[in-house]
Amino acid sequence: MSDKPLYVTEPALPPFEQFEPLLREIWASRRLTNGGAFATRLETELAGYLEAPQVSVLANGTLALMLALKALEVEGEVITTPYSFVATTHALVWSGCTPVFADIDPVSLNLDPAAVEAAITPRTRAILAVHVYGRPCDTAGLQAVADRHGLRLIYDAAHAFGVRLDSGSLMAAGDAAILSFHATKVFHTFEGGAIVCRDEALKARIDLLRNFGFKGETRVLATGINAKMNELQAAFGCLTLGSIDAEIAARAAIAARYRAAFAPLTGLRLLSGLPGVARHNHGYYPVFIEAGFPLDRDTLYTRLREQGIIARRYFYPLISDFDMYRDAPGADHLPVARRMADTVLCLPLFGAMDDADVARVIDAVNAAART
Ligand SMILES: *Cc1c(COP(=O)(O)O)cnc(C)c1O
Repeated sequence: MSDKPLYVTEPALPPFEQFEPLLREIWASRRLTNGGAFATRLETELAGYLEAPQVSVLANGTLALMLALKALEVEGEVITTPYSFVATTHALVWSGCTPVFADIDPVSLNLDPAAVEAAITPRTRAILAVHVYGRPCDTAGLQAVADRHGLRLIYDAAHAFGVRLDSGSLMAAGDAAILSFHATKVFHTFEGGAIVCRDEALKARIDLLRNFGFKGETRVLATGINAKMNELQAAFGCLTLGSIDAEIAARAAIAARYRAAFAPLTGLRLLSGLPGVARHNHGYYPVFIEAGFPLDRDTLYTRLREQGIIARRYFYPLISDFDMYRDAPGADHLPVARRMADTVLCLPLFGAMDDADVARVIDAVNAAART
């Protein structure tokens, strides 16, 4: 079979003709970066769309994590999840913090507040939680732990763009949330990211840090870095923000087809929706290959690959299983995260999948189930 590869995700791309007039505007302005018109406009539009008071757009999500830690002056131990993309922990180490791993909740797949509380030591300064697959953390539970122990609470919301709660914006939780606009994310600017917060002074500090710490022409107030979003990225973001709801709706329809097809299969566990979520973003479609399924996860992964279906094991290995983190505090006892990492498989899910693509995935998984 010579099927074209079907990747786990493909970036949403509007027709090129729609980007061209924006490129002409950039050329005419001769302003390519350093807080140009498009970066400013994107911040305003994101604040509206995300119902977030303060937004700073940045070069990527990893720098967003580092700047959030720096702006909030986090040092010492930070309790975090092993079930995420490696950048979550790397950003802590780049920022001079010590990562401490705590286990996840088996339903939300996010940091378990009780496990976080048990991992606190006199050196703990902050919690760095992830809304994995865009599934909201127990934000009330984590905030209660943070408040009891005087800790900062930062959310890696790289997966959670556009997720809405019944109670309001998910982006309002914690001291700050970071977003990634990498090409693999639901909303992207090729590369890009943002920090969302409520505190105007915190945004001012982030904006200072993203431009080397410069205040005006002659004063440098802090050890900043270069984390600015350029005008090409920002213009692309302004363009695609207009079609993000359509992208999410297209993903929702595909996810519903998957659910209908896979729900009857034995040993293939689907995630159910979490209470209090008004809108999911369908950034990922994870399934869990358990004992009742005729193939184990890695055999299914290989079987799909042989048919050109490039599913991904997000998140395997656990971050705490990479060599540089094996000896980190907490890394040796993460039974729930380990079970998820050993059984998870993320299936292709993106707005541009056509009916035939979806049918191909469904047929391949069904065939495996009959093995
Ligand atoms: C993508 C991602 C990041 C990193 O974002 P970049 O924009 O690629 O730097 C951080 N955390 C999580 C959970 C991610 O998925």
